[in-house]
Amino acid sequence: MVAKIIDGHAVARQVRAQCRDISDSLKAGGVTPGLAVIIVGNDPASKVYVANKIKACSEVGLSSTVYAFEAGVEGAVVEAEIERLNADPTVHGILVQLPLPKHFDVRRVLGAISIDKDVDGFHLYNVGGLVLGDTVFPPCTPFGVQKMLEFENIRIEGQNVVVVGASNIVGKPMALMLMQQDATVCICHAKTRDLAQFTILADILVVAAGRPNLITKEMVRTGAVVIDVGINRLPDGRLVGDVDFEGVRQKASYITPVPGGVGPMTVTMLVYNTVHAAKRQADKLGKLGKLAGVKTGESVESLPKAYQAPVPA
Ligand code: NAP
Repeated sequence: MVAKIIDGHAVARQVRAQCRDISDSLKAGGVTPGLAVIIVGNDPASKVYVANKIKACSEVGLSSTVYAFEAGVEGAVVEAEIERLNADPTVHGILVQLPLPKHFDVRRVLGAISIDKDVDGFHLYNVGGLVLGDTVFPPCTPFGVQKMLEFENIRIEGQNVVVVGASNIVGKPMALMLMQQDATVCICHAKTRDLAQFTILADILVVAAGRPNLITKEMVRTGAVVIDVGINRLPDGRLVGDVDFEGVRQKASYITPVPGGVGPMTVTMLVYNTVHAAKRQADKLGKLGKLAGVKTGESVESLPKAYQAPVPA
């Protein structure tokens, strides 16, 4: 068996075309979806990620603005900027590029973002919503994986899913999202003993560990769907995932390449979340007459029903 390669660029093109349609109809109604990106410090990788996000926004007709701060800036200054953006009706999505410098309380900063504008999906409300299945904005990387599985009509219900990697931004939300779709999910991490005894059981194997060649063909069941989230730069400059692509490809039914797999989907789902944030806010403006920002600490019960509705697929 030779696996079908899931082309992340092709799926991303389709999702972006849908986003453009929604964005065009919002613009016709006088609303241009807008993203605000906050970056602190001079991390070169962060600058590249931010530039990619801005480019993706402009390709779909979204407006975007970068707010750059010196590495030494006080957390309170950044939080004040977030509060200002929360109240700005021309801004529909706010993201803080991670990592932040060490002196920042990351949770506090992310918690300052209105859940209506939390397009990265890292606010405690959205993270908690993953458990209950009513998250407003799913985090972009696992959301992108979910879209790729949907695109290929890969059944999730009743499947054995193994997620390798348990980070807050990829592994854990991925596991919760697939559990919501009635998969039987196992999460592995660096302390998992004998990783292969788990991976071999997977009908769908999602790998997000950041370890090149962690998954070899002996660890994969014949016919498994293998999603490689990892991005690793080898000493010779090559970019590879966590999966031995050539070996595993001979055994899997589907596989994602690196580059050109999950990567293009991550930034695309940010665009998707931003367009849907604008749509939700435009709808609410019509219904409620004003935009109410939801502050950190506000209980879910106190929120209007509209806040609790999931983003339409
Ligand atoms: P992270 O925060 O470093 O988490 C890595 C996770 O993998 C941790 O849970 C860790 O376990 C686990 N792990 C590490 N070594 C392992 C091993 N030998 N066996 C089993 N599990 C192991 O990384 P991340 O932010 O989730 O990112 C993971 C990878 O995905 C990285 O390569 C990153 O560049 C890539 N990524 C790609 C995209 C994309 O758009 N394609 C987006 C985000 C991230 P412990 O919890 O026990 O330490």
